Amino acid sequence: MAENSNLKTNNLNQQSSSNPALNNLLKKSKLYLKTNHIILIREAYAFSNESHQGQLRKSGEAYINHPLSVAAILAEMKMDAVSIAAAILHDVVEDTAAGKEDIEKRFGLEIANIVDGVSKIDKNIKFLSRDEAQAENFSKMMLAMSDDLRVILVKLADRLHNMRTLDCLSKEKKIRIAKETLEIYVPIALRLGMNKLRLELEEISFRTINPLRYKIIVKAVENHKGNKIKFLEDIKDKIQERLGDINIKAKIYARQKNPYSIYKKMKKKKLSFNAVYDIYGLRVVTEKIDDCYRVFGASHNLFKPVPGKFKDYIAIPKSNGYQALHTVLFGPNAIPIEIQIRTKEMDQFAESGIASHWQYKTGGHSSAQAYARDWLQKIIEMKQNTSNSIDLLENIKVDLFPDEIYVFTPKGEIKELPYRSSVIDYAYSVHSDVGNKCTAAKINDLDVPLSTKLSSGQTIQIITTPLGKPHPSWLEFVVTAKARSNIKSYLKNMQAEQASDLGLRILDKALNDYGTSFTEIPYESIRRLLNEYNLKDEKIFFIEIGLGNISPHLAAQRIANKKSFVKEKYDSFVSKLLGARANELIAIKGTEGLVLNYAKCCRPIPGDDIVGLTSSGNGFVVHRSVCHNIKKSRSNRIFIEWSDEVSGEFQTQIRVFSEKQRGVLANVAGVISRLSCNIENVKFDEVQNPYASFVFTIDVKNRKHLADLIKELKKVKNINKVMRTIG
Ligand code: MN
Repeated sequence: MAENSNLKTNNLNQQSSSNPALNNLLKKSKLYLKTNHIILIREAYAFSNESHQGQLRKSGEAYINHPLSVAAILAEMKMDAVSIAAAILHDVVEDTAAGKEDIEKRFGLEIANIVDGVSKIDKNIKFLSRDEAQAENFSKMMLAMSDDLRVILVKLADRLHNMRTLDCLSKEKKIRIAKETLEIYVPIALRLGMNKLRLELEEISFRTINPLRYKIIVKAVENHKGNKIKFLEDIKDKIQERLGDINIKAKIYARQKNPYSIYKKMKKKKLSFNAVYDIYGLRVVTEKIDDCYRVFGASHNLFKPVPGKFKDYIAIPKSNGYQALHTVLFGPNAIPIEIQIRTKEMDQFAESGIASHWQYKTGGHSSAQAYARDWLQKIIEMKQNTSNSIDLLENIKVDLFPDEIYVFTPKGEIKELPYRSSVIDYAYSVHSDVGNKCTAAKINDLDVPLSTKLSSGQTIQIITTPLGKPHPSWLEFVVTAKARSNIKSYLKNMQAEQASDLGLRILDKALNDYGTSFTEIPYESIRRLLNEYNLKDEKIFFIEIGLGNISPHLAAQRIANKKSFVKEKYDSFVSKLLGARANELIAIKGTEGLVLNYAKCCRPIPGDDIVGLTSSGNGFVVHRSVCHNIKKSRSNRIFIEWSDEVSGEFQTQIRVFSEKQRGVLANVAGVISRLSCNIENVKFDEVQNPYASFVFTIDVKNRKHLADLIKELKKVKNINKVMRTIG
């Protein structure tokens, strides 16, 4: 065929060929491509044929037949001429003396880049172990995809033809390739919506790996087919007739499940062949979107729909772009019939997915790139959900994004974050206000804790509230400098305000024990003390007290200058601890926020007898005076009480014992919410026969509120005992 390249181009188009593979390709291409495109295809053929001259496939046929067949697969999908030409040339760089530059010189950069992309995917893989090769394959494909998606389409067509011609290979090699196809190419095709190609890849892989099972299922399908077809034909006629009545043009097809999908479903749902096969499917293909909804209405009129099965993927397409209406109807004898309703275009897309973007001239490329992004997301997600022994994703990550992860905003924009970033890091990467006001988050629509580490491909949604504010614990898991510095500076300001306020109140109380108060202390004394502590001003002094870094008693002792009195008073604190209540205690209002923490061990609520413990740097922790942890650390204790103005909700825990598990949770939850308590958490304790016990973490206002709740809960049927937990 070398002489072809010397002919004038318009002659090339007329030229008929003795090569059946070429004729097949030309026949398919001429159905939709223009003359100048056909010329391009012929030129690509001439170049490729010359380059592959003398090479044979394992089957003994001329090598050129392979690239021609790959191109024909793409022509069947009505791909653009550039893709077809690239497919014809796809093995030239890899397997012949010609290089990328030669292709570029002859066919331009676009085609050369696609060929180069396909070659890059192929390269190196054979030198690696199988698992490594797959990870490598993935990463190469992702890289290639970011340049031009058609690289992947050519690669998929290449794989399909190789699968179709597996027969000449050894059994081991066949099975290896089939497994690789199921593991890598099938998911890619699925994510790109290329269902027709995917089904064929699955079918051949299944047949290759499990020839016996394949045969059995094919046979079973054969045996059952007759009844099924008749049943479906009846339904089809009924629907067709109804559509005729309301003047809708539509084609109705009976859907057949292929052996592999039957096998997958049997395995996954542990169903018998009959149970899987007895699901009947019809597809209605309409002219217009409007008609889809009318067909939907008409079919629901004709047969009763199964509740909850209707899905509108037209209004909300699937993430790979798939659109259709899905519903399930009760057919005769209440046999469920699955119906898919879609337009011709949607049907086309459902078959060839992303490839259909190149079938229509208008703006295909940009929307395809949008899908590429989506694809990247899906492919990574898919690999995360695979429990393969090898951590393929890790390999890809290390290989491709050593230090970064890529996540998506709800609008589909990509955000790049350092590896191990948390939800909070993401929130701050959006905006520091989003970080500061962040109160909840969703990953892929599921609620997650704010400390959750992100992985590539996830879609993150941050929920903010005006009252949201950073929590000190965030510093334990954020990794980005932006989040860290924002949280720190916010906390510093907030904490300073609160600590200073609390510090002054504590100091004043301490001074009261010396028979004085802060306003009565001469400024000189304070100045001297500030110098001693090396503090800039009073405010910082209060803050240090508020944070527990300076003992209020020692400070009070210094500025009140009444040593003996101090000792006596200080000792009396200890005795107060053991039961006696002082007249003057520090009142807790519940609004102290960051400087005041409520102990998780005993969970004090207003009305409880309480004691404060100071801990350096962390402010105060309020315990119940019955808490065991109190007795361990006498020295730092502060006497406190609840202020009359106490407000807010406080977390506490109750344990509920019941006779039976079933229904109890719901009943308890009902009572709790009736009394306007919040349930923070429920834990099911070990069953202590014959009782089940649950621990509810709830928010209440005070002891009275809690007592009312416990009283109500005791009235609930099957509940034996309700008690508050003690640390
Ligand atoms: Mn190839």
